[in-house]
Amino acid sequence: MANRTVPVPGLPPVPKCARPGVRPEAWFPLSEESSEVTAASMRYARALCAGCPVVAECLETALTTGEDYGIWGGLTSPERRQILTARTTMDLLIPRLTAEENVAVAA
Ligand code: SF4
Repeated sequence: MANRTVPVPGLPPVPKCARPGVRPEAWFPLSEESSEVTAASMRYARALCAGCPVVAECLETALTTGEDYGIWGGLTSPERRQILTARTTMDLLIPRLTAEENVAVAA
């Protein structure tokens, strides 16, 4: 995310997308912009994210910190909420095993 200012463990101090010539506002399409501009901005940001070497880490950071604005790891806020909902559902359906239970199952 081009506007990240707080260091995040596992991610470089300066996001890969923060470089000369890249418009940081592309990661924050404004709702008051026309839908055409918003869509173009999102496509631009997603294209850069698709080639980013830290895309997985960036997305996971946004998921774990509850980032609710902008495009992180190539996904919008509604898309990230869908992942979080799916994870919660999976946790309810398939409770995670404790470390001791994992060892017992593997034995
Ligand atoms: S995945 Fe996208 S938002 Fe995250 S650092 Fe890379 S280019 Fe920036």
